[in-house]
Amino acid sequence: MRLDELIAEGERVMTVCNACRYCEGYCAVFPAMERRLTFAPADLNYLANLCHGCGECYYACQYAPPHEFAINVPKVLTQIRGASYRQYAWPSGFARLFDRNGLISSLVLAVCLVLALLLASLVSRPTGVLDPPVKPGDFYAVVPHGVMAWAFGLVSLLVVMALVGGFLRFWRESGEGLKTFAQPFALRAALADITKLEYLDGRGAGCTYPDAQQSQARRWFHHLTFYGFLLCFAATCVGTLYHYGFGWQAPYEWLSVPVILGTLGGTGLLIGTAGLYWLKSISDKALADREQNGMDIAFIALLFLTSLTGLLLLGFRETAAMGLFLVVHLGVVMALFLTLPYGKFVHGIYRGAALVRYALERSRPGLTMGREQ
Ligand code: SF4
Ligand code: SF4
Repeated sequence: MRLDELIAEGERVMTVCNACRYCEGYCAVFPAMERRLTFAPADLNYLANLCHGCGECYYACQYAPPHEFAINVPKVLTQIRGASYRQYAWPSGFARLFDRNGLISSLVLAVCLVLALLLASLVSRPTGVLDPPVKPGDFYAVVPHGVMAWAFGLVSLLVVMALVGGFLRFWRESGEGLKTFAQPFALRAALADITKLEYLDGRGAGCTYPDAQQSQARRWFHHLTFYGFLLCFAATCVGTLYHYGFGWQAPYEWLSVPVILGTLGGTGLLIGTAGLYWLKSISDKALADREQNGMDIAFIALLFLTSLTGLLLLGFRETAAMGLFLVVHLGVVMALFLTLPYGKFVHGIYRGAALVRYALERSRPGLTMGREQ
């Protein structure tokens, strides 16, 4: 569907819902919708990023297909959400690379990076990549610490710039100033919604995903993925502090803080991403946007491979296979980092920003966009 057709369909569906209002208790989308009389593209992008595609409003809707109104809120908002990822991506050209062939592009990128790292370490490192490490678990004998720090530091900087660029585009379009984003009460409310996954709770009975039956499965797999990712990030931060702050070099003991955080985080990511993929594979196809499948699965696959290769690296760090596992893990992690601003990860950024805006709007009672009630 062309973008103008998609926007027109979004406007049509939201106008019908705004007259009906049966679903107003289901999630943040409907109260936010009710504050509006018309639905400009920026409003639709905002509502689409408030939606998490649970499907509850679709299964409850008396106007859903085969009714002639053919109202399908999750599908149209998923399509608009996908278009918003491309619209706000910075630099825009990179988004097109991962747009239609997200899974293949990401896997090809990961393989190329692994091969490049393998070649670089074979050419430059003091001992061969397949030799047993002189000191058990000595990663820096395979890839020197300076090379690792510079490569990942540079990639992280580019990724942060791209994510901030995307966020600024999204927020500027919403019409809110940067000062309003920094309102503590709105940030607190959005953070509470995100950390508890408030809207996947379905008011206690869980989400109608992967089908009309309510269940907590998506919430739990999402929690494992989200907190697994945060624990892995925390492990890297603690390792960096140990290295630069205290001069303690890796490898760290099995019961050290970075290894415990990394193991717990990696295990959470492994189970969480496998579960999310399973739910996605059996989900109701009437609600899905097939064009976005590649992008969604690419992110899940790279997260899964990151945790799998990380845990294998940990398990085999004292064997001759350590060098090989290390370059594979680093290549996969770098591919994950490079694709973050152009894939499903941005859902977290825009959804977070949409929830902050929702908290701000709720603090302005009686205001319908464009006029006072
Ligand atoms: S999804 Fe259907 S039932 Fe729900 S508000 Fe919209 S039109 Fe009404
Ligand atoms: S699919 Fe779920 S989150 Fe999206 S609008 Fe419907 S009820 Fe809300």
